Amino acid sequence: MHLMELTHTEKEVERKRGRVAQQFIAASPHLCGEQIKHLSTLDLQLLFNLYEKELFEGAWAEEVGAEPTFSLSTRMTRSAGKTITKRKPLGAGQYQTSFEIRIGVNFLVQFDAVDRSKTVCGLRAPSALCALLLVLEHELCHVIESVYFKTSNCSKERFKVLAHRLFGHMSSYHALPTAQEIAYQEHGLRIGDEVIFFYQDKLYTGRISAINKRATIMVPTKGGSYMDGKGVRYNKFYTPLSALSVR
Ligand SMILES: [Zn+2]
Repeated sequence: MHLMELTHTEKEVERKRGRVAQQFIAASPHLCGEQIKHLSTLDLQLLFNLYEKELFEGAWAEEVGAEPTFSLSTRMTRSAGKTITKRKPLGAGQYQTSFEIRIGVNFLVQFDAVDRSKTVCGLRAPSALCALLLVLEHELCHVIESVYFKTSNCSKERFKVLAHRLFGHMSSYHALPTAQEIAYQEHGLRIGDEVIFFYQDKLYTGRISAINKRATIMVPTKGGSYMDGKGVRYNKFYTPLSALSVR
């Protein structure tokens, strides 16, 4: 069966995804029911093999070729997954293409940090495990589309049709808790807030310009290293969220 044409009904996908989840829970030591505390690249490899068996019906090796490699990141702030295409020159204008799928662990580990319903790819994700499966499915679609068409773009129709056929996806986005959302819930801090904080026993006032693991604060400073459009100069500080108070 041609992967670009393989179609699963909503019911089939649910059943098959359920089987993947059950086998994964039974096999991975890193799951606590459907909660995810840690993740390893071996987990992702295992999941891929379950998808190959349950959803691709063994077509991957024949149609796509080599299995993707997997990596994990704690630095992804917006997307929960990413597909990296690597081209190794073989000479004479020929390339060997391989794919690496990278998963943003934070989105899964912090899945329960915010108490609201979550969606991934337009489908409800009741657990971190379910979110992981949907993110991985999205990235697998990127690999398949890239193999057939050399390019892949999940905001375009061709991708959306593929992801809908294979996995019943309704969109290309996720609404998982981000570092920004968690920071607001736990510390009441948002990008743009004016804050005060101590750094080496000195009190500073600045504005939050980014929130990841720590907040980035721009502090107006004469002769600072950064300059905005109005010519005001700043120095940049990275500060734990717990050390900030809103001015
Ligand atoms: Zn995408």
